[in-house]
Amino acid sequence: MPTKRDYYEVLELDREADESAIKSAYRKLARKYHPDVNPGNHEAEEKFKEVAEAYEVLSDKDKRQVYDRYGHEALNGGGPGGGPGFEGFGGFGDIFDIFFNGAQGGRGRGGAQRGADLRYDLEVTLEEAYTGVEKAVRLQRIETCETCAGSGAAPGTKPITCTGCGGQGQIRHTQNTILGTFSTMAPCARCGGTGRTVPSPCPTCQGQGRARKIREFTINVRAGVDDGMRFQYPGEGESGALGGPPGDLYVFFHVKKHPLFERQDQDLYVEIPISYTQAALGDEVSVPTLSGEKGTITVPEGTQTGSVFRLRGQGMPDVGGRGGKGDLHVAVKVDVPTRLSEEEKKLLRQLAGLRGEKPTHEHKGLFERIKEAVVGE
Ligand SMILES: [Zn+2]
Ligand SMILES: [Zn+2]
Repeated sequence: MPTKRDYYEVLELDREADESAIKSAYRKLARKYHPDVNPGNHEAEEKFKEVAEAYEVLSDKDKRQVYDRYGHEALNGGGPGGGPGFEGFGGFGDIFDIFFNGAQGGRGRGGAQRGADLRYDLEVTLEEAYTGVEKAVRLQRIETCETCAGSGAAPGTKPITCTGCGGQGQIRHTQNTILGTFSTMAPCARCGGTGRTVPSPCPTCQGQGRARKIREFTINVRAGVDDGMRFQYPGEGESGALGGPPGDLYVFFHVKKHPLFERQDQDLYVEIPISYTQAALGDEVSVPTLSGEKGTITVPEGTQTGSVFRLRGQGMPDVGGRGGKGDLHVAVKVDVPTRLSEEEKKLLRQLAGLRGEKPTHEHKGLFERIKEAVVGE
């Protein structure tokens, strides 16, 4: 294990720094190295942890005193009650709470902490997005440990009241300044703010009160869901610690690209081939739809390639369930045949003749035509 850097050095502070200097140094550095700002940057992540750990110690009057006197070693073994060390689960959650909610935000009495939010990415086909569907998914999340019911104590034992704070979970710090006496509450270092310590930790969760579980889930995909939408499932995130409320689950939807249809909001777009005789003479042409209903467009005489026809109500449903569907826009593409029978060629030549067109080069290859163009006939 690499040698730990001095906490004051980490926060770029001198040893006399006061509470507000520590806090502002931490905020500055935590913002700089925060994982959200530096995605995938391992070095920044390490720095962030280092900064968070330094802050965790220096912002706590008791821990800071111990650190000032004895250095890192004195802090790593956990308190006399055998509570979790700094790198432990609870410790890190605290650090994030401090960063996001201010010094004592996010913590209820007795150290209760809200569980983390979860993200699940779910891919559906356009057909599924059209009809709506129920999807069974497997999700890994941290839940209250069943062995100890979240207490963290081995079966047959109980957590005991923390001697450091008398079970309050918090310790009052009084500071005298020229402006008067300020009193603040900070989480107890010995019990990590829980008010209790666990003499014999639960073997299933190692005393954390929570454990990782795989859960089967049914996600109700609403009709009309679009790529990039997300839905919130309150309370389906990870369990809270020590009686804290659970986090939320966010499902992010991804709609697969469809081989025929393109989608834009509630409207669908499709391109269908028609023959040149259909384009010239007009026809009823059937069109694929997502609803399964028979779609038909009437192609009038003399339709040009690229013309667009609209089938009302054959688009996507409204995800808000207000009813009403988008439209299906059908672009026709006139197919020019690549293989013709002798009979067909004969008829086409007749047609060309009727229209006063003179297909003179029909039997000559490209090379001969270029030669003629260059040399002249
Ligand atoms: Zn347990
Ligand atoms: Zn305590």
